[in-house]
Amino acid sequence: MKIILLGPPGAGKGTIAKALMQLDGSVQISTGDILRAAIAAGAELGKQVEAAMAAGDLVTDDLIMGIMEQRLQEEDCQQGYLLDGFPRTIPQAEALKTMFAKLGEKLDCALELDIPRDVIIDRLTTRRTCTNCGEIYNVKFKPPKVEGICDVCGSAIVQRDDETEEAIENRLQVYNQQTAPLVEFYRDEGLLVSVPTSELETVMAAIKERLQD
Ligand code: ADP
Ligand code: ZN
Repeated sequence: MKIILLGPPGAGKGTIAKALMQLDGSVQISTGDILRAAIAAGAELGKQVEAAMAAGDLVTDDLIMGIMEQRLQEEDCQQGYLLDGFPRTIPQAEALKTMFAKLGEKLDCALELDIPRDVIIDRLTTRRTCTNCGEIYNVKFKPPKVEGICDVCGSAIVQRDDETEEAIENRLQVYNQQTAPLVEFYRDEGLLVSVPTSELETVMAAIKERLQD
């Protein structure tokens, strides 16, 4: 499967990607995780993106395209991939389209998780992330077994810098302005599958239906 996941921050793209990944060996590629790893490693890339990310602003298209052109040609992408957090602007979507045309590749679909705003805000403010493995928790709906500690790897779980109320507000605005237009873009391409939920079974059924025809 080659699928783009669309939807506002907190829609559940990462969770859906991880679940789909286990089905057929596709890899989840999260640009947010790649950038956070670069920051954690103290890499040059991390220094370039740190301030924009903490504020909830996007990093530049050129920088993201540089990362993704390389990443999508790595060996583990042969089986397919779930793009989580990319493309995020019309220029990124256009550049991806050009790249696919060059490589002779084709997307299966762009899956939109169309989740109401109040649900999103509630999820984001209660979300916690493992500093080491990226596992996602929720203080209300999915708390770790031991408070503050990751069930998977034992590292500390924290609230992300960009999950303060102010940064969340900005991320939603950035989404509406810069990323939401991708829904129409992929509808025009005939690739859009939209579901009003991040409930796994519903999402899977919608993808299956799409892959059949
Ligand atoms: P979200 O929970 O908002 O989906 P992500 O983990 O996908 O968060 O991304 C976190 C941050 O990383 C974004 O707010 C942005 O600063 C940066 N980022 C990630 N992907 C992209 C992209 N494709 N284009 C520009 N910036 C990006
Ligand atoms: Zn962990």
